[in-house]
Amino acid sequence: MLAMKIHEYQAKQLLARYGIPVPPGEVAYSPGQARDIARRLGCPVVVKAQVLVGGRGKAGGVRLVSTPDDAEEVAKKIFSLHIKGSPVRKVLVAQAASVAQELYLGATLDRVTRRLVLIASSQGGVDIEEVAARAPEKIAKVFVDPFIGFSDYLARDLAFEIQLPPSLLRDFATISRGLIQAFVEVDASLVEINPLAITAQGQLWALDAKIVLDDNGLFRHKDLEALRDPDEENPYERQARENELSYVKLDGRIGCMVNGAGLSMATMDVIKLYGGAPANFLDIGGGAKADKVAVALRIILSDSNVKAVLFNIFGGITRCDEVARGIIAALDEVRPDVPMVARLVGTNEAEGRALLSRARMITATTLQEAAQKVVEVAR
Ligand code: GDP
Ligand code: MN
Repeated sequence: MLAMKIHEYQAKQLLARYGIPVPPGEVAYSPGQARDIARRLGCPVVVKAQVLVGGRGKAGGVRLVSTPDDAEEVAKKIFSLHIKGSPVRKVLVAQAASVAQELYLGATLDRVTRRLVLIASSQGGVDIEEVAARAPEKIAKVFVDPFIGFSDYLARDLAFEIQLPPSLLRDFATISRGLIQAFVEVDASLVEINPLAITAQGQLWALDAKIVLDDNGLFRHKDLEALRDPDEENPYERQARENELSYVKLDGRIGCMVNGAGLSMATMDVIKLYGGAPANFLDIGGGAKADKVAVALRIILSDSNVKAVLFNIFGGITRCDEVARGIIAALDEVRPDVPMVARLVGTNEAEGRALLSRARMITATTLQEAAQKVVEVAR
């Protein structure tokens, strides 16, 4: 469910290991460094903001230059940008390609067919979602059978549909194979090359690369975990991750503390059903010990939009009275000044609820009742 993005330059380094052609380039942390790299690579070069959001080109974060002096000048401007709220701390300086056509090539998981899908389009460079909306016939897909794996005929089918020049077929198949292999081996949820350029010299080059990794696979990839950029992470999402809590900030007013991802989703739905909006998704997992509840509560309350908090806890292996004691200990420590509604069900729920009402929490027995109460007090 949670995902980790890596930077373009990191994604390109990774894809290069799978035989995908990427332009030579290096990362600069200052305009002076950008100039040195441009001189070393030879101009023209492209200077590109390294931030974890898309649409950098439109925001002025991708610029072609023809001299090392211009590289320094342009890098200075790019370093002063905030792209969709992200300050630019590093730029990639790469050899510029002379582009004849921009294609799209991406791999992701298709939930309907439960297969890996390879997607291509002759309309690359722009958002693929835009192409999908405007000209869906320009998007070609092939599905990879998990037992058979990738075969070149799939790439041929795709190439045919996007009218790729036949001379590029062999390289296109190599790139497709590499993309699929990379996707599987790093436990990605998305690997995307946009644009995959056909150069004026008639070669294929990956000019931009995006990789999203599945957090749940990261324990198998210590080397990739190390690529996580702490500068780019929301501080509360980081705190949550370090405490093994799944937390996603949203824009509503009702903080949610729930055990279990499915129950969290259901809780958010019911809040909406009664006219409220959740401020976050938060799964505290099993156990719900006081220290973990306290960390979770602090994270929820760090969001100034939060006007009330809903606890929705199912006491299965952990007994409800134990959970209640955890919550009370956490309240003692955090001392929140917004109303709190708790729905506790499961083993020893009556004892748990009694403890919480003594601590002046609003309690409820059903999720509907809890949602109604929390929406009410959040007004
Ligand atoms: P994005 O806007 O964040 O997706 O950044 P991209 O890396 O995709 O760059 C945006 C656009 O800049 C691309 O679609 C290309 O049109 C252009 N671009 C990027 N690199 C090069 C290059 O080496 N040569 C040329 N001519 N254009 C480039
Ligand atoms: Mn792009």
